[in-house]
Amino acid sequence: MRIIRAAQVLTGRPGESIKDGEVLIDGATIVSVGPRGSAGEAGEVLDLPGCTVLPGLVDAHVHLGFDAQVDPVTRRSPESDHRLLLRMAENARKLVSAGVTTARDLGARNFLDLALRDAIEEGLAVGPHIVAATRPITITGGHCWYMGGEADDEPAIRRVARENLRAGADCLKVMASGGLMTPSAPPSWEPQYDTRQLRVVVEEAALRGKGVAAHAHAHASIRSAVEARVTTIEHCTFFTASGHDYDPALADVVAASGIYVCPTVHGVYWRLRDAYGPSMVDDWLRSITSMREAGVRLIAGTDAGFASEGVANRTDGYVGGLEVFAMAGYGNAEIIELATVLAADACGLGQVAGSLDPGKRADLIAVRGDPLERIADLRDLVLVLVSGRSVGQTGVDTVTSSVG
Ligand SMILES: [Zn+2]
Repeated sequence: MRIIRAAQVLTGRPGESIKDGEVLIDGATIVSVGPRGSAGEAGEVLDLPGCTVLPGLVDAHVHLGFDAQVDPVTRRSPESDHRLLLRMAENARKLVSAGVTTARDLGARNFLDLALRDAIEEGLAVGPHIVAATRPITITGGHCWYMGGEADDEPAIRRVARENLRAGADCLKVMASGGLMTPSAPPSWEPQYDTRQLRVVVEEAALRGKGVAAHAHAHASIRSAVEARVTTIEHCTFFTASGHDYDPALADVVAASGIYVCPTVHGVYWRLRDAYGPSMVDDWLRSITSMREAGVRLIAGTDAGFASEGVANRTDGYVGGLEVFAMAGYGNAEIIELATVLAADACGLGQVAGSLDPGKRADLIAVRGDPLERIADLRDLVLVLVSGRSVGQTGVDTVTSSVG
């Protein structure tokens, strides 16, 4: 048994803070959370004065198998799977070193995400818990077709869904609309599938108790995703041929559905703003503000791995994405909630992760300072535990000497 004691413990529930608190851990599991002294005696005590302990962060949308190259389709020398898997392992290590203890990988080829997920759980690689979607379901030549999940009609969609689940997918990803980075795909403001086709994906996932993430930029696709009752809508940009066109009535429909939206808010906002010009990127930020006001349940996810206009969105920029939520009007307590409890629930892990509660995984981080006051303090990590295992340079020995 191990006690981690800090100036403050945030449980992950909105605004809930225990001053001078402690967390008791038994192996991979949280036993108790409370004020100093509540845990009784333990073999090991880690004291972190001046620090805040909180649930490990959740990134609900990553692509560990993208390498932040401009065009993964037409690259001159595509990487072998062997090499790509090594790169994914390195991305996973970077991600967890930034405090992300759970990541939903929403698209990888050849089931490499499953190999990495299992290697991390077995201790062969260092990284967050991975919720793997494997091959995104898309039309022939559609958005991200090169990951191997092409399907044009209902029987084909059903087959790819079942094959993914047979291989061990934790959730399904479907490309409801077109997107960027795939020259042969429809533009992002055009649907790829209709409501009926999306329902097939949801049915197949539900039979195995899994969720569905629907990539949807287009208005019609956002509406279809709601009608099909997917678990999360990715991007939700309200794209038309002329850019972002926020639709308050449609946002109300999304809010009323209670479906989570992952607007893929990332840390390269300012660099994209330079690349695309302020109007487009600022419209996007305004739509996030408007969705918040409409009551849409937004969650944190960075789309790490992509590149656009030469701007690489790498796996170590997670906190930068949270700062963009602050720019969109979110308070720090709300940001921590959407980065922990809500994102974990959206990934289907509400019972095992996302908050510091007895019986849940010991996925937690400690930072110097108080992220309720300054969200940037989340960068000042002194401890990252994934199921009780300490990660990387933030080893327990280092922590005691550097903080004490
Ligand atoms: Zn993505």
